[in-house]
Amino acid sequence: MKPLFKVPELEFTDINTRPYTTKNIRLQVTRLDKLHPIISGNKLFKLHYFIEEALQTNHKRILTFGGAWSNHLLATAYACKLAGIVAIGIVRGDDKVESSNTLKECERLGMKLKFIPREAYRNKEDPHFLHALSAEFGDCLIIPEGGFHPLGAKGASLIMDHLLKHKPTHVCTAVGTATTLAGLLAGKQNSEKIIAVPVLKNMTDIEKRVSSLNITYTPVDLILFDEYHFGGYAKQTTALLDFMNYLYLENKLPTDFVYTAKMMYAITDKIKNDFFDDGSSIICLHTGGLQGNSSLPVGSLVF
Ligand SMILES: *Cc1c(COP(=O)(O)O)cnc(C)c1O
Repeated sequence: MKPLFKVPELEFTDINTRPYTTKNIRLQVTRLDKLHPIISGNKLFKLHYFIEEALQTNHKRILTFGGAWSNHLLATAYACKLAGIVAIGIVRGDDKVESSNTLKECERLGMKLKFIPREAYRNKEDPHFLHALSAEFGDCLIIPEGGFHPLGAKGASLIMDHLLKHKPTHVCTAVGTATTLAGLLAGKQNSEKIIAVPVLKNMTDIEKRVSSLNITYTPVDLILFDEYHFGGYAKQTTALLDFMNYLYLENKLPTDFVYTAKMMYAITDKIKNDFFDDGSSIICLHTGGLQGNSSLPVGSLVF
């Protein structure tokens, strides 16, 4: 398949580590958020092989799942539009309360939305439920929520191809479904360690998730910083918002409060606590999602 979009030379933002350490530690953020004005981050990478599969198997429709602020739904809407495939988004919740800027943008890109009550949405992996949904819309290729599937991990491994030439000692990502993490582990080639920062509370099944995507890796290559969820998924605190404003003012780095801000908080905190050796070169993935900040109260952020 010809690529859906040409990945430009990735941009990097250097983060000043002097406030955190006297060691020589290089911290860079690779700006996947700048890939595209609407569809930023890791999501298009994760979709790459699903779109290829749909085109090869002659599926005219792709159906997938997400919440009202789902970056994955938005990226799917966009990728399908580019590929000439009809996109169907199954949204968790009720259309009267769950509308959002994200969903409006999905519809503008041509995605059909169907809202499903939270109870029923829990069946999103049940084969009978999926079969019925697919039949309702007419033979769809189904992408699991967040692209959590070996094809999603394979797509995410393409990110690593762009990073290896910079010879990082550590590559770091926020973790939602762990699909991107699995891709990084699959794509690594040298002695670099992959750092995972889960943004959900009590996410204790990361290794199991990675293995279930058919990725094998050496356990010491995966490092978990799992105490930076700030209360759970899409939860935030004043300390986190203050940190986001600081990162922006000090380093010109805008972050989203659901993923990248928590990951950056974790990394800078670990630098402060002497986790990293002198000479480390850390690359953090800015996985995008800035549009989600519009769900915060007006005035929370300086950017
Ligand atoms: C989806 C998403 C992630 C998490 O990616 P997974 O592959 O699900 O772990 C991280 N950051 C942003 C901005 C996202 O939208």
